[in-house]
Amino acid sequence: MSDGSRDFEGVFRSHLAKVKPYSSARSEFEGEARVFLDANENALGSPSGLGMPLNRYPDPTATELREVVSRRRGVEPRQVFVGHGSDEAIELLIRAACEPGRDRILITPPTYGMYEVSAEINAVDIVRCPLRPDYSLDAESVVKALDASVKIVFLCSPNNPTGNVLSTAEIEKVLAAAPGLVVIDEAYVDFSARPSWVERLKQFPRLVVLQTLSKAWGMAGLRIGFAFADSEVVRVLNMIKPPYNVGADAQSSALRAMRDDAWFRGSVSTLLEERSRVTSELSRIEATRKIYPSDANFVLVKFDDARRLYEYLRSRGIIVRDRSKVTLCEGCLRITIGAPQENTELLQGIREFERKENV
Ligand SMILES: *Cc1c(COP(=O)(O)O)cnc(C)c1O
Repeated sequence: MSDGSRDFEGVFRSHLAKVKPYSSARSEFEGEARVFLDANENALGSPSGLGMPLNRYPDPTATELREVVSRRRGVEPRQVFVGHGSDEAIELLIRAACEPGRDRILITPPTYGMYEVSAEINAVDIVRCPLRPDYSLDAESVVKALDASVKIVFLCSPNNPTGNVLSTAEIEKVLAAAPGLVVIDEAYVDFSARPSWVERLKQFPRLVVLQTLSKAWGMAGLRIGFAFADSEVVRVLNMIKPPYNVGADAQSSALRAMRDDAWFRGSVSTLLEERSRVTSELSRIEATRKIYPSDANFVLVKFDDARRLYEYLRSRGIIVRDRSKVTLCEGCLRITIGAPQENTELLQGIREFERKENV
């Protein structure tokens, strides 16, 4: 697939070619009109009080948002799919490509849990090719595990829960060999100095890049994520998605928020400074055994007694993510970088745990 040719033969489930997608009122009529009596909406308005009309169905494909986002990322609007979070894109990609009970996805654990969950819900089997103990991608073992039934390879970079970016050269090997789609989940890309894989879409037509407004943009509550891909992939995702998957309030809030680039840059830079501070203070704490390098807004840290520390922090009202039972993350907690005061409280909590342990 590395020659840049746009061939999607065998990539999507064959029966989809015959599915006639739902044709919504909003997609059947385009243009100007004064009176809309085509969608059984309530023309009297709504009691929402949000300061925007919510009585009308939203734009099915979030046209304005796609324009803004495509400009930011240097692609065409038809290369952008807008999902109800990137989790929806994960689910739709599996449903588009994988025949239940026959096709498979490949994941590289430890990694984000939703690839597995979505596959299982859809009765799609999972090939697991673990990362190396240092969390680097072992492209050779991935390539060896590929066959025609592996319709999607999910790679996460920077990876959740380990925080590292995967090597460009190793990902290229996977892209060169994969028979179907290669999805690179870039939920944390804005915290990394590495360029986005969106720049490589032309070269790899079967590459899909996922991004989200849930992390660096601070809008997890909106539920908006993006899949950047060849326009043919985007067409199929739009065809199988629920007609109105992203609400009008979410589209409009996202557009308004994304005009404030200064907020975005400020928040990323604060979180990166805090990540350095938390990391360097943790390194001076005795209970810390290893801090894994992070390109994300969290750090994975190995502690002497992760479970007990987790419980202690919890008793003080501080919740981190216990990954200590996850293969290759034994003894580790995943700590999100919070607001400065929250991080200070976390560090105080860990120091106090240590003092208690040492008496
Ligand atoms: C947080 C996260 C997401 C976010 O999903 P949304 O549905 O957009 O909130 C996606 N992928 C990874 C790896 C994540 O950690």
